[in-house]
Amino acid sequence: MERYILLNPGPVNLSERVRQALLRPDLCHREQEFKDLQNGIRRKLLEVYELDGEQWAAVLLTGSGTAAVEAMVTSLVPEQGHVLILENGVYGERMARIAELYGISYTALHHDWGEVIDLGRLKASLDQHPVSHVAVVHHETTTGRLNDLQAVADCCASRDVSLLVDGVSSFGAEAIHFADWNLAACAATANKCLHGVPGTSFVVLRRRALEHAKTARNLYLDLRTYLKHQDDSSTPFTQSAQIFYALNEALDELRDEGGWQQRRKSYRLKMDIVSEGLTGLEIAPLFPSQECSCVLNAFHLPRGVTYDALHDGLKEQGFVIYAGQGELAKTIFRISAMGATTADDLHRLIRKIAQLVTE
Ligand SMILES: *Cc1c(COP(=O)(O)O)cnc(C)c1O
Repeated sequence: MERYILLNPGPVNLSERVRQALLRPDLCHREQEFKDLQNGIRRKLLEVYELDGEQWAAVLLTGSGTAAVEAMVTSLVPEQGHVLILENGVYGERMARIAELYGISYTALHHDWGEVIDLGRLKASLDQHPVSHVAVVHHETTTGRLNDLQAVADCCASRDVSLLVDGVSSFGAEAIHFADWNLAACAATANKCLHGVPGTSFVVLRRRALEHAKTARNLYLDLRTYLKHQDDSSTPFTQSAQIFYALNEALDELRDEGGWQQRRKSYRLKMDIVSEGLTGLEIAPLFPSQECSCVLNAFHLPRGVTYDALHDGLKEQGFVIYAGQGELAKTIFRISAMGATTADDLHRLIRKIAQLVTE
């Protein structure tokens, strides 16, 4: 099969180093080798943001990013708690859907997709209706908007509210100030900015945050069950050794390459090539670059070109781009910098798009 350059926001192109890790020896999840592997990954996940294992813990789950988000929301909002969920895209709305399905007490602060979170409305809502948690998406992949978590955290700080962060498409590539932002937890996944394989996701949580949440709302996604077992070098359910191998290698690779700061720089470089190249073709970004994540940007479809035509034309040339969601599918397309792609790949992409739009 042809090898594609993936410009979708995960699953990503693997480096050769990570791909080879999948071929390591078969493992039983009850043996010491697996325990060492799991303990190592949990430690390395904390090291990405230099977190202290006394106060923080990484909990590994089997499932995609949504499993980690669902585990976070359902395990950390206590029965007597209330969560204010900030919506400005698909993933904020998904957290509200999770709260609704489980009967968790919540309020949604809705914004249209792509809108800047209105801090005035946030403060007014917090004053009117005190809450235990605010849940927010860091990088709203729907549009590429990087929500200003510093500003959100500042609104929460004086009100003793802790944050639940969907960091699925920012963990490993954007600044996350766990302590300063008063995070209770951040949910993320192996196969986005960390460059691992899909199938495992995780929640980095403040150990103290679990003490308030005493009752489990589900069996498979209960973070307290996982934490208890994983602190004991064990696992409540079968985990995938192969996916763990790949994540472990991907975390070593991230460290060897200079950590999240360096990954951020390399993503920025790639996104700059794309946005400058497209601007030159009169294909405009959805937002100014200072409002965008380094991870993914959205662009208006060029005049007279449908997404399908652009997608199919580029796929023939070996590139997979990404559609907008919902109504945005008609007007935008998205390009992600995630994965083992190079600046050169993106220069080639721009040349191919130039050919397609000037044909
Ligand atoms: C990708 C993503 C998710 C989870 O998606 P899965 O398909 O379940 O991995 C959640 N939130 C954000 C912000 C994402 O980008």
